[in-house]
Amino acid sequence: SHDVTIVGAGLAGCEAAFQLAERGHHVRLLEMKPARRTPAQTSDFFAELVCSNSLRGAALANAVGLLKEELRRVGSLVMRVADRTAVPAGGALAVDRERFGAEITTTMREHPRITVETREVTEIPQERPVILATGPLTADALAAAIAEAVGTKHLAYYDAIAPILSAESINWSKVWKQSRWGKGTAERAQEPGRKMMAEDAEESGDEAYVNCPFDEETYRAFVAALVAAEKVAPREFEDVRYFEGCLPCEVMAERGERTLAYGPMKPVGLVDPRTGRRPYAVIQLRAEDAAATAYNMVGFQTRMKYPEQLRVFRMVPGLEEAEFLRFGSVHRNTFVDAPKVLGPGMEMRAMPGVFLAGQVAGVEGYVESAAAGFVCAVLLAQRLAGKPLVPPPKTTALGGILTHLGREQPSYQPSNITWAHVPPLEGTKSKLTKRARYEAMAERALADLDPWKNTAL
Ligand code: FAD
Repeated sequence: SHDVTIVGAGLAGCEAAFQLAERGHHVRLLEMKPARRTPAQTSDFFAELVCSNSLRGAALANAVGLLKEELRRVGSLVMRVADRTAVPAGGALAVDRERFGAEITTTMREHPRITVETREVTEIPQERPVILATGPLTADALAAAIAEAVGTKHLAYYDAIAPILSAESINWSKVWKQSRWGKGTAERAQEPGRKMMAEDAEESGDEAYVNCPFDEETYRAFVAALVAAEKVAPREFEDVRYFEGCLPCEVMAERGERTLAYGPMKPVGLVDPRTGRRPYAVIQLRAEDAAATAYNMVGFQTRMKYPEQLRVFRMVPGLEEAEFLRFGSVHRNTFVDAPKVLGPGMEMRAMPGVFLAGQVAGVEGYVESAAAGFVCAVLLAQRLAGKPLVPPPKTTALGGILTHLGREQPSYQPSNITWAHVPPLEGTKSKLTKRARYEAMAERALADLDPWKNTAL
């Protein structure tokens, strides 16, 4: 058996420690609590749920419901304890956070192959392999060391998440597909001497963006609604001086009525085929997945409260009945540009033997962080056993976690698990109603999980 060092006894670190220890490895778990806490923590238990006590939807027609069920079936510690400490919460799985944290802490402290050490880690440890699972509020010295290892532009301290909506909920009669400057973008990209690769040219081709056109009156009403909408108040440790590159849309709206029209809503290079003219302003949507089942509202990261996002974004022409798969948000959050930084098995390309798990690796959410700890640990266990890496199938939600971590974005943003992270159904099943389709995707995932579990775990 090998020694593995894990930094951070949060959701990802505890799940990873348990999986490795259960496979016979000796694990050293380094955690700074109770010597030091992050600004969001209020307890000394491990795997602290710092905000809500809900692990979100339980139904299988919900992508996070499927992720929880998969974790149960593959023997996740976090899910086992969550089920044992559950409290009534309608269609969600919520837990008694004290009992949940206490039981996970006891499991770590009493496991014969896990040794817990209390200390703040200020550099990337020399020991290999090491898993860094220090979460969204990774203590400063270690965050700086990670930034140095991966390159400062590949480690972010804030996220800036724009909403994602389902393609089928768009009113396609009001919008049209066109990239700025139309075909020109792709043609210019192919000029000799330009660095862009052929695939990039294709992606920025004529139909990469969906445009929602505004006339002047609709634009003014929309900007006024953004300014007036209720926002989530920043936490005391969040610095409300945002980065200029990823300002929340309401902050731009507050700067002046025309600011958005010169920013993400600029209509330059676009012609509405129904009027033959350039609209007053636009919102651009970019496909989230290869099959274009979901679209991201480009530049519309926001701190509006969720019901306000629903109300205000449904004022956008073409989005009157939009169904949001993920709402926007802006948080203090330490994470890497996963597709650039991580290789197979969630290993840092720049530092072999160093692995990232949990939120710092680029996922979002309690369950997703535990899942990323699980996947990182079982892939490391495969490697330590001298076996080839066999990741979870792409059709599963666990596979979807890796899909998101590998999907290049112009500015990488973490994400909760959504149906856009697994391939859509094919053939007649793709014509089912939404709920039936999601249920069929969950059924497909659980059927594909079994053989992986039996051979790869
Ligand atoms: P964590 O659970 O944060 O664990 C990291 C651990 O590493 C901590 O115990 C920390 O003390 C330790 N650590 C950090 N740096 C060091 C160091 N240098 N040396 C040693 N130990 C260190 N997600 C949801 O799904 N629902 C929510 O309601 C929710 N609310 C959130 C609210 C806030 C304020 C924040 C910041 C995040 C929230 N999240 C929420 C997002 C996220 O899912 C959780 O933060 C989740 O706990 C991340 O899991 P993790 O294992 O990656 O990190």
